[in-house]
Amino acid sequence: MSAMLEVKDLEVAYGKILAVKKISFSVEQGQVVSLIGTNGAGKTTTLKTISGLLRPTGGEIWFQGERIDHVAAHDIVTRGLAHSPEGRRIFPRLSVEENLMLGAFSRRDPAGVRTDLQAAYDLFPILGERRKQPAGTFSGGEQQMLAMGRAMMSRPKLLMLDEPSMGLSPIMMKRIMTTVSELQRQGTTILLVEQNAQAALKRADYGYVLEVGKVVLSGSGRDLLVNDSVRKAYLGED
Ligand code: ATP
Repeated sequence: MSAMLEVKDLEVAYGKILAVKKISFSVEQGQVVSLIGTNGAGKTTTLKTISGLLRPTGGEIWFQGERIDHVAAHDIVTRGLAHSPEGRRIFPRLSVEENLMLGAFSRRDPAGVRTDLQAAYDLFPILGERRKQPAGTFSGGEQQMLAMGRAMMSRPKLLMLDEPSMGLSPIMMKRIMTTVSELQRQGTTILLVEQNAQAALKRADYGYVLEVGKVVLSGSGRDLLVNDSVRKAYLGED
């Protein structure tokens, strides 16, 4: 069987700057796959291109057996691929519930949407308790929960998370990472971009290390965690 997501020789440029240089990777159904790497490695650019916000200058992206690299972003969401972006991008003046409902914009099944809204509140009770509050009053960790909840409202088969742990306290980070495992258990496939390599690899079935726009290493999460060069470069060990 082919992978749920396949990225083949992807190339993405900003003008003359090549940010992603022929990277290839795949995500099998049911897996958590992590992309790790330092600032500027091309992780965010890769996710934005998969979700149709940027167009590649080369290569191919396949999702569930169909090529999507020239499909419109809203259509990609409808096909079951959701993106929780870096920096969360919530709408501060809208209420928590309004933010969540935006994630369901493409759906035509109101009963299913209500069920999933409740599921988001079950996953993150604080969202339910404050459903009428403006999202801008939330802390960073709460906004991250909201961004994840909003992405889940499209009932995605594949959820892409861009640096969900960024700026969070260790406790909140643990909470978010536990949720990643919980969503996997419930059947969602996850592509997780992180600078926090330790947290990301611990939960990953498979991982890819990106450096200046290229995949330099890949392996099971467990293997990468004990890999010498990963430990030196990303886990701060001598
Ligand atoms: P970070 O963790 O800092 O987001 P990243 O691995 O996600 O890093 P990208 O944001 O994808 O990396 O950036 C990859 C390269 O593309 C970098 O060299 C960056 O400076 C460049 N880049 C990113 N966005 C733009 C842009 N809008 N215009 C020009 N260059 C850009």
